[in-house]
Amino acid sequence: MTNKLTLKEAMLYEKLPEDKVHCYLCARHCKIDKNRTGFCLVRENKNGKLYSLNYAKTCAANVDPIAKKPLAHFNPGALVMSIATVGCNFRCKFCDNWMISQEKTISGRNFPPEEVVKATLESACQGISYTYTEPTIFFEYAYDTARVAKDAGLFNTFVTNGYMTPEAIRKITPYLDAATVDFKGAADPEFYKRFSSVPSVQPIFSALKEMKHNGIHVEITNLIIPKIGDSLAKIEELAVWIRDNLGKDTPFHLLRFHPNYKMTGQTATPRKTMEKAYEVSLKKAGLNYVYLGNIPGHDFENTYCPNCNNLLVKRFGVEIVKWNLTKKMHCPECGHNIPIKGELHPTGASYPFPLF
Ligand code: SF4
Repeated sequence: MTNKLTLKEAMLYEKLPEDKVHCYLCARHCKIDKNRTGFCLVRENKNGKLYSLNYAKTCAANVDPIAKKPLAHFNPGALVMSIATVGCNFRCKFCDNWMISQEKTISGRNFPPEEVVKATLESACQGISYTYTEPTIFFEYAYDTARVAKDAGLFNTFVTNGYMTPEAIRKITPYLDAATVDFKGAADPEFYKRFSSVPSVQPIFSALKEMKHNGIHVEITNLIIPKIGDSLAKIEELAVWIRDNLGKDTPFHLLRFHPNYKMTGQTATPRKTMEKAYEVSLKKAGLNYVYLGNIPGHDFENTYCPNCNNLLVKRFGVEIVKWNLTKKMHCPECGHNIPIKGELHPTGASYPFPLF
């Protein structure tokens, strides 16, 4: 792999008078002056043409279990090549991956789409995940890689903040099989403004409807930060929206916060808070598949049959400890159909190994 800088003309923009451009890849809809970058700092207007600066400049590449994304109802046990470039269209003060998402210099190794797919096949992965930072802002790279990956029989998944335009979703739809869409603070607009510098949450809900409409498998996460993002009423409101717009079988992962980045003064989310959020989402909002994340070994990491409460999948963190479903994904006790896409893949004993 070499470090040469590749400039790629951007997708999803239009030219404006006076060599300005309008980028409509993400919901910020930046209007960018000549020789300036957009909010994400990785798309630059060079003399009236918009370029992606981070195309194939990969800053992280790892083999991960799919459960790490998290995806619990899509090809369980699969391994995914996980890649990222620098940059983001959010400024979350609690970001886990702030070292790369908030990096202002374009850095990383040249890792073209064909090489990513080759490495994925050689690593015995079943798919590729565009993750760690925000795949929307390395869209051209993800798009080209996803196309090659599809031809090679691999699946593609995004881990995204969901702040994409419908145009971007429609473009990637033929190649995108699944998406994990990450909420924080139960989608409270004030929380997003204050802690992520995001002016409106509405585009995320529109993006979710578009994904659902286009047949992309969707799982939702919500990061619960104590005191500032742990309102049970708001969590219930979000869970009800998911039930009414995406369906009650949509997996909903509630993620425990650990102090990070600019929020190291905060405490980790108490287990009691997490358990209450679980109960509210499951029993009050009526979602069928709610999971607690970042509490390995907790009973609420498991999948239970919504019809007879039989334990179907026992987990410990990203590991599947026990699988108790029929081949056709039915509960063996009552025969209830459990919506899990794809197939069960034999899990390896120890996965994560970084490529670089
Ligand atoms: S992708 Fe970047 S340049 Fe385009 S609208 Fe979003 S923040 Fe602005």
